[in-house]
Amino acid sequence: MKVYEKAPAKINLMLDVIRKREDGFHEVEMIMTMVDLADRLEMEEVPRDTIIISSQAGYIPLDEKNLAFQAARLIKDRYDVRKGVYIHLDKKVPVAAGLAGGSSDAAAALRGLNRLWGLGISEEELCTLGAELGSDVPFCVTGGTAVARGRGEKLERISNPPQCWVVLAKPPINVSTADVYGKLRAAELKTHPSTSAMVSAIERGSFTDICDNLGNVLESVTLQLYPEVLQLKEIMQRLGADGVLMSGSGPTVFGLVNKEAKVSRIYNGLRGFCKEVYVVRMLT
Ligand code: ATP
Repeated sequence: MKVYEKAPAKINLMLDVIRKREDGFHEVEMIMTMVDLADRLEMEEVPRDTIIISSQAGYIPLDEKNLAFQAARLIKDRYDVRKGVYIHLDKKVPVAAGLAGGSSDAAAALRGLNRLWGLGISEEELCTLGAELGSDVPFCVTGGTAVARGRGEKLERISNPPQCWVVLAKPPINVSTADVYGKLRAAELKTHPSTSAMVSAIERGSFTDICDNLGNVLESVTLQLYPEVLQLKEIMQRLGADGVLMSGSGPTVFGLVNKEAKVSRIYNGLRGFCKEVYVVRMLT
């Protein structure tokens, strides 16, 4: 038997860091939603008790460093599954891009293996397992749109934003999330985006207010380290995107656009500066 799962990319409509905790993690407040750019996982039982990962992408680890491998090992250990699995990862989401590609693969592996092995694990339990693999994994298990607090694992489900176009542009640099958080001086942040204003804009379905309330405190680090990300934001704004923000720790910049007529102009304009540009929709 084979099962298939999609692992969509996430974007942060808002990302705030409240403080650095004593355990070294940062206390965050984020609003995350999914877009229809996704990896696809194919999972098939194999006769030997082993985990095998393959992918067409040459640039990700295929051993125990792969988050889908870690998800499979975790679920096998925790539920005492003495069966093996072959997981093929069809990678479409750019890596180390601020789009939670690896976390989404881990979440998709948890969902898929739960089905493949008929384990009957609840979504809540899958989220708890996911939190052991990474802060963004619980959100990727449930999908939709949520406010994430704590390390990112405490989720409050909210409505999906109104449908719009999302233009993603990834400059040719890889950003380490740990490095960006490491350089952030949370106590020195002068301004914070407003979670309540963004939640209210989303709940009211106001596209304009969503664009006006976009904010990500990690821009203060990444834009300084990589001026090309700032440049990309400015280009996207000039080309007429309605709201522009860096996702996660970057370097991907996304633009929200409500009129289809504007999308191709933005796409074509960006392609002059950046090879990796995607036009996608929100997953609603
Ligand atoms: P986040 O926004 O959660 O920080 P990201 O988009 O910045 O995520 P990922 O694409 O998840 O970053 O990749 C981060 C690192 O994880 C990379 O260095 C990559 O080698 C490793 N990795 C492990 N498993 C995977 C996977 N299945 N897909 C992509 N990267 C993976």
